[in-house]
Amino acid sequence: MFRNNYQRLQSMVEFIYRNFPFVVHVAFMGMECTGLASTNLDQVWIDPTEYALELKAAVLHLHRRAIPVSIYNLPLCLIPHEVWRFSKDSISTWKKIYLNQCEDCKMRQNCGGFFSTSVKQSSRISPIKNEEGEKGRKNGDEKRDEGFSRH
Ligand code: SF4
Repeated sequence: MFRNNYQRLQSMVEFIYRNFPFVVHVAFMGMECTGLASTNLDQVWIDPTEYALELKAAVLHLHRRAIPVSIYNLPLCLIPHEVWRFSKDSISTWKKIYLNQCEDCKMRQNCGGFFSTSVKQSSRISPIKNEEGEKGRKNGDEKRDEGFSRH
């Protein structure tokens, strides 16, 4: 997902469902901000929390239609609790990192972490307090939490 396509996730999954009956798995990929992505950051970067609702709707849309679906490359604190179960530990060990604030996170063992190779990380990373997804408060959390609870 990136700035140019997140608003089309819903129509994309509907297209997949209607036109590719043979599909065996759909993976939604968080962006690794390296290479051309890093040199075009202004055009492609979007904080994952800003497309959280679109991602949740797209993932659940496929799941309800019995299409296997996964989320790769996004830490749990940046995606809605309702789609945690689709998250995979997908980043290669050699380039996976955690941040200082992750030390206080109760979901650290279940979280896939971040790309060490990305030139930009979300500013909305915050430790999770429990398996229900309750988070510690950091700057920007209010905005993110409002967004997550609209649907
Ligand atoms: S705070 Fe927790 S959920 Fe967020 S990136 Fe760190 S370990 Fe993962």
